[in-house]
Amino acid sequence: MLAKRVDSLEASPTLAMGKKAKDMIADGIDVVNLSQGEPDFNTPDNIGRAARIAIKDHLTDSYTATNGLVELKNAVVAAAKRDYNVSLLTDQVVITTGAKLALYALMQILVDPGDLVITSAPFWVSYSEQVKLAGGSFKAIVSSDPQFKLTIDVLNKLEEKPKVVILNTPNNPSGAVYSKNELESIISWTKTNDVYLILDEIYGKLVYGDTVFHSGLSLESLVNSKMIIINGVSKAYAMTGWRIGWAIADVSITHAMTKILGHLTSNPTVVAQYAAIEALNGQQKSVETMRKSFESRLNFLYRDLSEIDNISIPFKPSGSFYIFFKIDSKFMKKNNFKNTNEISMALLSEEKLAIPSGEGFGMPGYLRLSYAKSEAELIEAVKRLKHFFS
Ligand code: PMP
Ligand code: GLU
Repeated sequence: MLAKRVDSLEASPTLAMGKKAKDMIADGIDVVNLSQGEPDFNTPDNIGRAARIAIKDHLTDSYTATNGLVELKNAVVAAAKRDYNVSLLTDQVVITTGAKLALYALMQILVDPGDLVITSAPFWVSYSEQVKLAGGSFKAIVSSDPQFKLTIDVLNKLEEKPKVVILNTPNNPSGAVYSKNELESIISWTKTNDVYLILDEIYGKLVYGDTVFHSGLSLESLVNSKMIIINGVSKAYAMTGWRIGWAIADVSITHAMTKILGHLTSNPTVVAQYAAIEALNGQQKSVETMRKSFESRLNFLYRDLSEIDNISIPFKPSGSFYIFFKIDSKFMKKNNFKNTNEISMALLSEEKLAIPSGEGFGMPGYLRLSYAKSEAELIEAVKRLKHFFS
């Protein structure tokens, strides 16, 4: 018999939907796959080149320090200086196999059985399961904020004091981006209440229109602090497959994470670490080119989706690369859909369109579409959605 923790664990709905779509495509079915948050761009050439040179020079043959190559940690430190004029110590950075593992290791060092971790819904699918794996209790609150943001009001009304608060800006799946004031007030609340704050900033470079992204790095020193920043190369540098992410925090936190990671991975794959060094230290114009392209896709999709019957977008996203839209409850009733999971399945089988439902993001009644896909696929997706919902 397998351990009980597996029984209560949900498989990642974004990855599961992605796999289903990829299997159908392999069978020759014309599926438009907008299930996973994965840029359609190639990893920029300078990054691949750096990886090939590292292999050729045999830099990739041995284990590195568990928390990553000094050169990569220093590249994260240099990026913090360049982007936010913030000085960090190398030891405040821990490199992991994707930001997902940084979050996992964090939950393992912060959460004891029974500890409460809170965030706002909708939230990224792995937070809840990682908290469960640490034995903690996870609560996602639907805030009355028009963009579903976590607010001081929500925090003040909590009946139980949480051990950890998770805040994701720009948000996956809603696309909301927190203002400086909003962030400052939440940071201040967590400080006053002596609560850990995980700021997941993995989409920080992907904001649109006149939105400004504010990093926790520029608002609060991490020395002796309970705030932790999560980031990585997956989204901004089109490097989802390379699996490099990191946490930045007080050294007491990064050292504890390193202890756990020493028993999980030994170190992140070395060739990917060399690629990530080039991503951070090399030319940054590809990031802006991709960001601009995401922005133009968001603009036309937002316009076209707004015209489709029976769906509505609560607000125009200002960051990340998702649109999270609501399904009219009358449409669901009339067509005998019990929940949006069933709609997501029907879209896949009837329209060959893969988009996950809000259930996995803690907000049933919605569907999430990733627009990190080609314009042709997005245009086709709009057609299929129109056909299904009209
Ligand atoms: N945080 C959020 C909000 C995400 O959407 C993702 C998705 N990949 C991650 C963390 C993890 O990213 P990765 O493991 O690819 O670095
Ligand atoms: N973060 C992406 C998403 O939400 C990638 C898949 C995953 O890791 O869940 O689709």
